Formats: sequence, C-alpha cells, structure tokens
Amino acid sequence: MIDREQIDRSVDAVAPDVVELSKRIHAHPELRFEEHRAAGWLADSLERAGVTVERGVGALPTAFRARLGSGPGPRIAILAEYDALPQIGHACGHNLIAGGALGAFLALAKQAKLPGNVDLIGTPAEEGGGGKIRLLEAGVFEGVDAAMMFHPYDRDILAHPALASRWFTMKFSGAPAHAAIAPWDGNSALTACLETFRLIDSQRVHFRDGVRVHGFVTNGGQAVNVIPEHAACEFSVRAPFKAELERVAAIVERCARGAALACGVEVELSVRQGYREMKNNLTIARRFGAALEALGRPARETDARVGAGSTDMGDLSQAVPSIHPYLAICDEGETLCHQHAFAACAASERGFQTMLTAAKAMARTTLDLLEDGKLLERVKAEFAQG
Ligand SMILES: [Zn+2]
Repeated sequence: MIDREQIDRSVDAVAPDVVELSKRIHAHPELRFEEHRAAGWLADSLERAGVTVERGVGALPTAFRARLGSGPGPRIAILAEYDALPQIGHACGHNLIAGGALGAFLALAKQAKLPGNVDLIGTPAEEGGGGKIRLLEAGVFEGVDAAMMFHPYDRDILAHPALASRWFTMKFSGAPAHAAIAPWDGNSALTACLETFRLIDSQRVHFRDGVRVHGFVTNGGQAVNVIPEHAACEFSVRAPFKAELERVAAIVERCARGAALACGVEVELSVRQGYREMKNNLTIARRFGAALEALGRPARETDARVGAGSTDMGDLSQAVPSIHPYLAICDEGETLCHQHAFAACAASERGFQTMLTAAKAMARTTLDLLEDGKLLERVKAEFAQG
C-alpha cells in the first residue's frame, strides 16, 4: 500500500508550481472552447514532469489527456476544468479545479508503481459548452471506472445535487406600426415576450421543490415609436430530476405559445439540451470525505440550505461513477459562484490552500479505488442500482 502521507508530501513538493499555474490561469480568463493558453500551460507542466500528453483529445482543441500506468487494473479519471465566464472572469474558480487536478496527478506520477491506471482529463467549456458531453460522446471516458473533480464553494459538501437543465430561445414576430399614429395596425412582439414571463411566474406555484426557471429579454424592440415587430428572450429551465424537467419545460413552452396566441403574434421556439442531473456516487464521496477528515477537514455530506446549479459533470455521472464535491474558499454565505467577490477568493491564499487539500484528498481517494478491489465493486454496485 502506498503511504498516504508520502502522497501529501508529493503534493506539497509541487505546490509552488501548481499555485503559480492556477494564478496564471486566473489572471488570463478564457471563455468556453477558447481556453488555448490554460490547456497549453497545463499540458506543458505535465510534459515538464515527464508525462506524455495527448492534446486536442476528442476532437476538442482545448481538451487534453495524460495517462499513468499501462497495465491491467482499474482506471480512475481526475478532471480539470479551466474555462472562465464573460465579464467576471474566474468567478467559478475553475483555475482552482485545474490546479487541484494537476496537483493530485503530479503527486501520483511520482510513484514508481501504481496499482492501476490514472487519467488526467482536461475538460473544456463547462460554462454552457458541455465539454464533458462531447468528450463522453467521443469515447474519451471509455474504460474509466470512476471519475472525480472538486469544485470551489462557500462550504465543504461531499455530495451536493446538480440540476438537470434545458435552454429555451423564444423569438416573437408581430406586425410593426407607428406607435402614436396607428398603434391599432400593429401586433407587439414585445408584449407577447413580456406576457411569457408573467405566465411562467403564474405557474411557479405548481413547480416542485428545487425547480429553477429564469430568463432574460434578448431583444425588446427596435425603436420607441414603433410597435415592436421582433422580440426575443431566453430561458433556462432546471429541475432535480428528468421527469420534472420534462414537465416544467412543457409548461414553459405552453406559456410562450399562450402569450403569442393572446397577442396575435408568431413564436418560434428552439430548445437546447442542457446538462443532466448529478448522480453522486456516495461510496466514492464518503471515501473522499474520509480522506478530507484525515487531512483535518471533515465535511458534511449534504447541505439543503444552499442552492444547486447545473454541470456537465452530471452527464458524466450518469455514464461513469463520479463525484463532484465542493470545498470552501470563503466563509459560509460570504459569496458564491458567479459573483465578483468569489472571483477574488479564487485567487486568494485560502483558495490555493483549499486547492492543495483537494489535490491530496483526490490523490488519496484515487489510491483507495486502485488498491481496494472491494471498494470499487461497491462503487459499481451502487452505480448499477441507479
Ligand atoms: Zn463551475
């Protein structure tokens, strides 16, 4: 059995480089599918450590994969995200996800002999691009027995839900007319657009707990003296499980069609598949929790007081036993993902310390899964149960 404290020391040994890289990614935010520098820097530092890197894996130029081990035995994947958000940069802390994954992998790479195989997979475009879905479809996760990553948050949670999601674009087309001379000759596309928001609000009373429906107007008209001929909005629909997502999506669609009918305008709906709900593998999550505890950082399993988002890790978790634990980089309630203050925490001393703790816990959990065949059997049994 590989000494876990030696693994911790290996993470500490690479910590200065990993922190520096994470800082650099934070300072140069890149949007989904455009993470050329971040992916390149990660691949470069793996190569400097003597690891071969496949760049552009799965036909995604900003994805990559590095592998340890080549013999029989299980294969565990550690995932790195590194995309940022428009306007607010690394306000989701993906620079820390990248550093945590790199630190764990480099520590494992220092082992002379691993009891199995480990992949580090660079997964671009988590923010609305679904990079993991593309990699899944391209077969990049074939042969992977379990997958893990960590995500920065305002508290430590081992197995938090992530919502199934779907995106709607609604385009309304009416008839333009002079808004003062002859408003009766027009049909306002904007009115139908706004009525859609009101009708959806009227239906919220019927939504199950945890459902989120949120939208914004992307086109509100063309001129103040013209009855708007064109208007458009976008909605995100999210639910804790697929059946409720389908039900609420049908309600949202009905509201848009009802608003268009009432206003005498046309509506064109386009739907984009979002992410699937997270299927947390509790067997792995608890083992990650035990590793955290050994590192002096015990974590809650769940916390119903905090909301859930959506992630393409949800899609992966439906195909491969997975975990997506959250670790605090700020005080509870201080700030959360997609806020300016959270972006600052993602480049703070506390953020980097959490990243290194995550690296140690992921490396330890990976070794648990490689060394303990019975554990992996339990992981697979839980996964098969659904
Ligand atoms: Zn994120």
